[in-house]
Amino acid sequence: MIPALLSNYAPTDLSFEKGEGAYLFGNDGRRYLDFSSGIAVTSLGHAHPDIVEAITDQASKLMHISNLFRIPGQEELAQKLVDATFADAVYFSNSGAEANECGLKMIRKYFSDNGQSERYRVLAFENSFHGRTLATIAAAGQAKLLEGFGPVMDGFDQIPAGDIELVKASITPETAGIIIEPIMGESGIQVIDPDFLRALRTLCDEEGLLLMFDEIQTGMGRTGKLFAYEHSGVVPDIMTSAKALGNGFPIGACLAVEKVAKCMVAGTHGSTYGGNPLGTRVAGTVVDIMTADGFMDRVAQIGGHLKQALHGVIDRYPTVIEELRGVGLHLGLKCKVENTALLDALRKHSVLTAKGGDNVVRLLPPLIIDEDQIREFITALEAACEELA
Ligand SMILES: *Cc1c(COP(=O)(O)O)cnc(C)c1O
Repeated sequence: MIPALLSNYAPTDLSFEKGEGAYLFGNDGRRYLDFSSGIAVTSLGHAHPDIVEAITDQASKLMHISNLFRIPGQEELAQKLVDATFADAVYFSNSGAEANECGLKMIRKYFSDNGQSERYRVLAFENSFHGRTLATIAAAGQAKLLEGFGPVMDGFDQIPAGDIELVKASITPETAGIIIEPIMGESGIQVIDPDFLRALRTLCDEEGLLLMFDEIQTGMGRTGKLFAYEHSGVVPDIMTSAKALGNGFPIGACLAVEKVAKCMVAGTHGSTYGGNPLGTRVAGTVVDIMTADGFMDRVAQIGGHLKQALHGVIDRYPTVIEELRGVGLHLGLKCKVENTALLDALRKHSVLTAKGGDNVVRLLPPLIIDEDQIREFITALEAACEELA
């Protein structure tokens, strides 16, 4: 007999009854400080009153109608995202991987519509993560994602990030676009050099390639800007969002500039649930909160304070943590000890964090944390480091 639940995850033996702001209440009777946010999702904290109100009010009226009919809330959310970003149009999905699928299809469709269907290959970077569908695992190209799921979908090439000459040398007459995470989240908060992003933009302009940013993890305020591209000023042609967009309600988005978006005419793509009245109402509320005056400034400020405090801990425990990485509240502690050892020790001190690649512990607190919660976290981290040093 096998468990009724598919064994594709390996969860920690801990569950929760409820959440409130930056805290989670475990079924073990303990209160946890949540510095994982369900992997950068619950960025406004748990049970945010405006989100609860949006869900209950909308659910009592209309949750779903399908895209056979106009959905005013979907049109409003699209307009809010267009107003807040570089984009001219938005498609809504139910997850990050689906948002990326849309972006990758857009790249092919753009060249097909322009009489260049031989240009379909997308250049991606080693150690990327773009989701778990067949196309997105092929895009990321990581062996651990592809193992057992061959043949690998055609159309993706991977090279290491950072070397623009290598990118130039890897472009062929079949190359259509480039996909990159401005900060590689799953692989351990690897911040891509803004100069490299700028060079990619220039190269894409010269070669007529489309530049796609996967901001599923970096977006929606995580780095102290609504989207991370704002830090470098490098504007992509296509950008995806998900995770914090719904603060826990499943919704993703694929944003694009006009020349690309206009290729996706009626019948080219779709989703039954995508952009339904409930999801778009919740995401609309999230966008309103995050684009309100001062919200992002506060995230950047509190992120700075957390970073400063973390540097102090790293100075005191160099045998436990060797490096702090990241921007805003998208942070990673590169460990000298096993990252899982630090993660477990933090959990014993009632703090939840998330594992990342490259032996990193990711710190993904809700964007609404305050100074007291930072102090609480630092106290727990020091205790954990003391035990592991
Ligand atoms: C989480 C994530 C995805 C996949 O999102 P899902 O909602 O799990 O499909 C894709 N890209 C990046 C950068 C992510 O962090």
